[in-house]
Amino acid sequence: MLHAMSHRRSAGLAAAVLLTLLGLACPPVLAVTPPEHPQVSGLVHGVDLTSPQALGWTTEQADTAHRYSRGSWALGFIDPILGMVSLALLALTGFAGALARTIRARLKARLAADAVFIVAMVLCLSALGFPLELYRFYREHYYGFATQDFAGWFGDEMKGLIVACIITPLFLLPIWAAIRKWPRSWWMIGSAIGMALAVLVMVVAPVFIAPLFNTFTPLKDASLKARILALAHRQGIPADDVYEVDASRQSRHDNAYVVGLLGTQRIVLYDTLLSAYTPDEIEFVMGHEMGHYVLNHVWKGLAFGAALIVVGFFLLSRILDRLIQRRAGRLGYDALGSIAAVPLALLFLSAYLFVIQPVVSAFSRHLEHQADVFALQLNGPTPEARGIAVASFQKMAARNLSDPNPPAAIEWWLYSHPSVGNRIRFCAGEYAFPDARQRNTREGPLSLVARLLAQLTARVPASPGSAKRVAPRYPLGSVPSPAPPRDHSAVQS
Ligand SMILES: [Zn+2]
Repeated sequence: MLHAMSHRRSAGLAAAVLLTLLGLACPPVLAVTPPEHPQVSGLVHGVDLTSPQALGWTTEQADTAHRYSRGSWALGFIDPILGMVSLALLALTGFAGALARTIRARLKARLAADAVFIVAMVLCLSALGFPLELYRFYREHYYGFATQDFAGWFGDEMKGLIVACIITPLFLLPIWAAIRKWPRSWWMIGSAIGMALAVLVMVVAPVFIAPLFNTFTPLKDASLKARILALAHRQGIPADDVYEVDASRQSRHDNAYVVGLLGTQRIVLYDTLLSAYTPDEIEFVMGHEMGHYVLNHVWKGLAFGAALIVVGFFLLSRILDRLIQRRAGRLGYDALGSIAAVPLALLFLSAYLFVIQPVVSAFSRHLEHQADVFALQLNGPTPEARGIAVASFQKMAARNLSDPNPPAAIEWWLYSHPSVGNRIRFCAGEYAFPDARQRNTREGPLSLVARLLAQLTARVPASPGSAKRVAPRYPLGSVPSPAPPRDHSAVQS
């Protein structure tokens, strides 16, 4: 699946000036790069399979991985907090109210004025978030991951900004129309509108948005393709193609994901993965992705997202409207239905999503773990299959500089996937096989809903946790991220 930590895109001439000052216009000299071909150990009983030696890291590389991971964890908190600070600057200073009035005074048609206001908000938020984006770019270069020069990266940022300027009004205008029409009950209709639009974006994204940033081609390696398709057909997946993406255009990180919906659902492999992994390891990664597909994880993620939106919108409708009426003088508008209330509403929803992040992460880890179970089961799991799985994860950790054993609290809060250490230990057989999740078969819609409800109410096992970043598919207050996943706090796939 395609998921990313909220990340902001933005623009500005100032950026070019700033970059020149920082000497960043050309990629800086690389620091310690991840090993190209780590000497992984596979399944060896009686040794720590997640030690630097097992991952093929030198002491220096292990050190670098630790620093890189710590930075990613910090960014996992700093990013949403800075997003909320940006929204607060727009929402609480009277700026949003003043800007909405200025635009309305010049544009007679309300719809046009509202659309212009939302686009202006997107531009403001992108500008405020730009320093952090720039820092991320610099950091990815420093650790040897980023492959783009500044111009290439900035071009992608601009494309992302344009996409955001189109998609954000598309989402917000109908919802705000519903707020005005049904001031008490809009949250139900608003949720339905939001979900319908989210489905629409998920359907068109692989076909119309993702190709703006990368080239997607059918897998070129014929023998690998035949092997993967045979595996898919054995699982009842009606695939006739697997896609590879030139992710190396932006980064050296490895990944694979399931994306799209209805007719556009597809499995995509990074070219970085294809060049560095053995066919057995790629087959294991594909087994994991097929697990997402067969176990309907895209739909489950969507259902989970729908539940979060309904609750968020309900809270918004009950709490924020009263607050706005009480502070109308200071804010410069007097109802939630005013378009000027958009930044305040997004601030409220961002805070809500920040608080429930551990729930979202747990749900996501749960799905990821199911996909790992599925992949491991495809071949047994025999000791050989376990060895291949372990080697795949070791390679992923080594090449992505992922600290295999993050602090439990960090994993609990931030990780959309189980930590790679937990995944390795599970695949090595150190945790029991969770029999309830051994499902290689397609489910009917009823059993799916029942199981989803059970999942939502059940506690997810803490250690070999699992799943998928479902969550802020459109990080509120920031910009949808159509580019490939950038969540490096956890090894993906
Ligand atoms: Zn996955």
